[in-house]
Amino acid sequence: MNAQSQTPASLVHFYDTRTHAIACGESGPDRRSTKHPRQVTCQSCVALFDAPRTHAEDAGAVS
Ligand SMILES: [Zn+2]
Repeated sequence: MNAQSQTPASLVHFYDTRTHAIACGESGPDRRSTKHPRQVTCQSCVALFDAPRTHAEDAGAVS
């Protein structure tokens, strides 16, 4: 609830620990990144790291 006060300008990108880079390729001086998926606010990063996993969980959950 109280996390809604974040400013839209401060996107948090996903840091891929396997490639040691920002998932969406962002490299600006003001970028922020995290290894924790729940803290990511960049939609491009979310799509990149979330899509394959969601698909796998979907396949396993269907029965
Ligand atoms: Zn990003």
